[in-house]
Amino acid sequence: MATTQGLVIINTGHGKGKTTAAFGQALRAVGQGLQVCIIQFIKGTTKSGEALALATGFPGQVALHLAGTGFTWKQDKETVKKAAMAGWQLTREKIMSDAYDLIVLDELTYLITLGLVAEEEILDLFRARPQRLHLVITGRDATQGLIEYADLVTEMRVIKHPFQKGIKARKGIEF
Ligand code: ATP
Ligand code: MG
Repeated sequence: MATTQGLVIINTGHGKGKTTAAFGQALRAVGQGLQVCIIQFIKGTTKSGEALALATGFPGQVALHLAGTGFTWKQDKETVKKAAMAGWQLTREKIMSDAYDLIVLDELTYLITLGLVAEEEILDLFRARPQRLHLVITGRDATQGLIEYADLVTEMRVIKHPFQKGIKARKGIEF
């Protein structure tokens, strides 16, 4: 594989660290002068700490888009679907725009696991992307086809999580 070929990186598994690692990767890319776009699926419209920091800290270098309505179990199916499909359309546009060196698709795996977009449709878009473009994908339960297509796949595995002893999500740690 040529060194000019963009990589497909997946952070999956049920342990914490998938999204934060993706943003860490984005930060590293920004530091090296790469143009970065981040699309966050599923999650709410309230900006997380990492989103706020990256989008306000590097306005010319990072484009951030929230394509979610909140967590799926709090929303009706149609609302979730509509937001996800708008996010998917945006993903197509951003990938084919050739304006970025790295695109983060945070929680993309849920488009497949919730039955909103076919795995093959996603892979077709990835195959058609500009050659230099790196993709970073996060989400639990990455499907076999995605894993096979990717160049780098990491599974975050839970050993311990404060949630297990009833500690709720903390500002600055979870969001
Ligand atoms: P982070 O955003 O902290 O990197 P993540 O992207 O790996 O986490 P998600 O699966 O997207 O995790 O879940 C979102 C939220 O759920 C995060 O706030 C995370 O801390 C929390 N979480 C992740 N894994 C677990 C777990 N095993 N038990 C309870 N909560 C979890
Ligand atoms: Mg996440």
